[in-house]
Amino acid sequence: MTDNPRHQGSGSWAGSRRLLTRLREVMASPDTTQVKLNSVVQLIAQDMVAEVCSLYIRKAGDVLELSATQGLRQEAVHQTRLYVGEGLVGDIASHARPLALAEAQAHPNFAFKPETGEEIYHSLLGVPILRDGRVLGVLVIQNRTARQYTEEEIEVLETVAMVLAELAASARLVALAEVNHNGQVASSRLDGVKINGGVAIGKALLHIRAVAPRTIIADNEEAEIDRLTVAAADMLASIDAMLSGKLAGSDEYVEVLETYQIFAQDAGWIRRIREAIHTGLTAEAAVQRVLNEMRARMRQSTDAYLRERLQDLEDLTHRLMQHLQGERGQIPDEDTILIARSLGPMELLDYQPYRLKGVVLEEGAATAHVSIIARAMGIPMLGSAQGILQSVQAGDTVVLDANGGQVYARPNLEILERFHANIKLFSERQQRYIAEKDLAFQTKDGVTIEVKINAGLVADVEYLHTVGADGVGLYRTEIPFMIRDNFPDSLTQEEIYRKVLNAAKGKSVVFRTLDVGSDKTLSAMDTLPKEENPAMGWRAIRMSLDRPSLLRQQLRALLKAAADKELRVMFPMVSDVSEFIRAKQILLLERDSLNAAGHKVAATLQVGSMLEVPSLLWQLPTLFKHVDFISVGSNDLLQFLFASDRSSPLLNNRYEALSPPFLTMLASLAQQCDAAKIPLTVCGEIAGSPLEALALIGLGFRSLSMTPHAVGAMRTMIRSMEAKSVGEYVQTLLHAPHPSVRIQLKNYVRDRGIGV
Ligand code: PEP
Ligand code: MG
Repeated sequence: MTDNPRHQGSGSWAGSRRLLTRLREVMASPDTTQVKLNSVVQLIAQDMVAEVCSLYIRKAGDVLELSATQGLRQEAVHQTRLYVGEGLVGDIASHARPLALAEAQAHPNFAFKPETGEEIYHSLLGVPILRDGRVLGVLVIQNRTARQYTEEEIEVLETVAMVLAELAASARLVALAEVNHNGQVASSRLDGVKINGGVAIGKALLHIRAVAPRTIIADNEEAEIDRLTVAAADMLASIDAMLSGKLAGSDEYVEVLETYQIFAQDAGWIRRIREAIHTGLTAEAAVQRVLNEMRARMRQSTDAYLRERLQDLEDLTHRLMQHLQGERGQIPDEDTILIARSLGPMELLDYQPYRLKGVVLEEGAATAHVSIIARAMGIPMLGSAQGILQSVQAGDTVVLDANGGQVYARPNLEILERFHANIKLFSERQQRYIAEKDLAFQTKDGVTIEVKINAGLVADVEYLHTVGADGVGLYRTEIPFMIRDNFPDSLTQEEIYRKVLNAAKGKSVVFRTLDVGSDKTLSAMDTLPKEENPAMGWRAIRMSLDRPSLLRQQLRALLKAAADKELRVMFPMVSDVSEFIRAKQILLLERDSLNAAGHKVAATLQVGSMLEVPSLLWQLPTLFKHVDFISVGSNDLLQFLFASDRSSPLLNNRYEALSPPFLTMLASLAQQCDAAKIPLTVCGEIAGSPLEALALIGLGFRSLSMTPHAVGAMRTMIRSMEAKSVGEYVQTLLHAPHPSVRIQLKNYVRDRGIGV
């Protein structure tokens, strides 16, 4: 028998509802936050028949501060602090899971804090205060006797913690909530790694996959159960409709949807949500709570299968929330800076990115595909900004200085003024670049460089003329696919490609066939099988050759769109010459069959191969017999040469193009292409970076394709360098015993006044 009335059978749900209602009254009161917190811990201690109830709130520097207590010494409030991971409270925060102990002091992680006077309490139950997957604090109850807490008590405390999460967030108590003397939340600065340069000032929008519930406590339990039942049925019906509708017949697609269907029908999942509603929560809060619990449990798992199921569950939760709230995504305001842990290219596109002023990622590296979209659209982006999600709240003013690798939350006036001046300077420089757009890309010693742009949307092609570039060196055809829910049919594709060619007004355009897979996923192809290493998996030309109907459809659209004109096509991720030969054969067959059917097709063809996989470097003489040009995809080539994941923030900047092995490889490639008279270009991100471009020109590259926003600065750089002397200098660096020769090149350009 226990001393807690909750364990004595029925009435516990009613008890929990009563507690939640009283907490809601406290929260709605006009008292100061501290008074509210004091009342909250008092209420919880009373209701849960505990001698102690304490609330720890997460502050800057990953510290958990005792912010209110009933039962421990009041002098300890705002004095007792534990790091995340330190002591039992820190343990709960770091693992984001509850801890129930009959003998707390016997636990190996117990940290004695004499100022609290807690030594007389034996048992402890603590739960994390979670919001949007972040730990905002820890709620603890303690009892004098060594007692076992029940599952039900843990659940009640978790529900209470959800309510507190709202209070903590709305009162801005959390994380860097270092309130200054005027009662304002202090500003904070974090370092990150530049993914795409630029400076922006805007308001923070947090990217949250599952929409956070707005109301936590329900007024009417029955009504909430009904809402859940309707939303779950709607969701299931929409999955059923997808299953019987588009792409039926594709095995993998059906398989994925069936997994979702099984999950959605899982009586256990819905039952748990129902039970959470019985504790007094709204349907949304109940869905969130069940996700939090399962997330906390599954995250600890090292089993890849389980972690994958967690992704399914998150996705499904997100969908169920949308059905409950009748919402579809967040539309950013014009001055939004998007803050996210990580972001896929699709997710970025969901935000109508042309409305975004900037993006800050906790994780994320410069060559991940999402960065390419940011660059293509000129959105400043900072990656590896660790702690940003803890530091910023939705609506905070944020200054993003991607050039300087920094982000400021809630900046003071001085910082704001400085950056407004900076933005003015930046836009003046852009004006200068526009004024210079007709100047030739010619070095001081008379070498002409072809400078082209990378594009992915018809709108990007316009930049060709505004920046004065020579053509489109890489048109990523997957991007129009990525922004649609359905697969564009042949006619839609033809229309897009025709618009691209028209927008180019006679300048050349190189269309790259579909490069999907890896982190470029299509919502229309949810069927893609999950792979351990998708970047090295079934992607790009591999997929195109296995599913030739998709490739054929695309090639037909391209051939028709380029009627009577020149068509340039290149294939991505070629690892073996035979793949290129097969793809080219398909292209020629399509051309012939369209011709035979009386269609107008491209007058001439130029067919090239991307060089992204190192194996191709040892097949060059054979490749030269079949290609019209080669384009180096340095983003992938770099990751495969160094076996270094381009999306991993941990490896950011660790291996780089300005290194002796990479430069030596490029030198040999340039020399072989030159001897074979095969046009060679670079369309990876290094081509748009002035220092890297300088080295490439030194190595003999005469064609570069880059994000349009890099063209102006590139023109300045090219016009201030001498190709011959750079070439001689770069040769001396090929055998340098350093992992990078960046410093040497920086000194070189500084000494010669080259504008990089
Ligand atoms: C590359 O790999 O360098 C490249 C241009 O292709 P993507 O970045 O689209 O993979
Ligand atoms: Mg690539």
